[in-house]
Amino acid sequence: MREENCIFCKLANGEIPSATIYEDEDFRVFLDLNPASRGHALIVPKEHFADLFELDEEHCRKALALAKKIGARMKEKLGCDGLNLVQNNGEAAGQTVFHFHMHLIPRYEADGVGISWKPGSLTPEASAELTALLGAE
Ligand code: AMP
Ligand code: ZN
Repeated sequence: MREENCIFCKLANGEIPSATIYEDEDFRVFLDLNPASRGHALIVPKEHFADLFELDEEHCRKALALAKKIGARMKEKLGCDGLNLVQNNGEAAGQTVFHFHMHLIPRYEADGVGISWKPGSLTPEASAELTALLGAE
């Protein structure tokens, strides 16, 4: 299903042109308009899912397999030294387009791209609380 006012529905389904580097029945991969690095691309399903929580299992599997395939191509063709997969869910996590997408960000030695956080430390109390809370039922 598509959503009427969703720009990524339109881009993924070719209603709006994009700098496409890959397309199949389920996904389009196109270059990000505001790239973090040379080759920054987005894996976008043709069907509308707002975020990871809505994504079905089949699309989950295919999205990761596609990340591997396009990532390998980036390594070969762009000569990148590394690759970040970034996938934001919810405003609090930095999501700005509410149609599931996965960022493929090729990384180059000393490229200065800032994907980082300040490491905290896991206290024994927090560890006990969280493993109890989040552990498998
Ligand atoms: P996020 O913050 O994870 O929701 O990322 C949304 C991404 O979509 C940003 O990196 C934008 O630069 C990118 N973006 C938004 N509109 C377009 C567009 N029309 N074509 C390509 N990339 C886009
Ligand atoms: Zn959409």
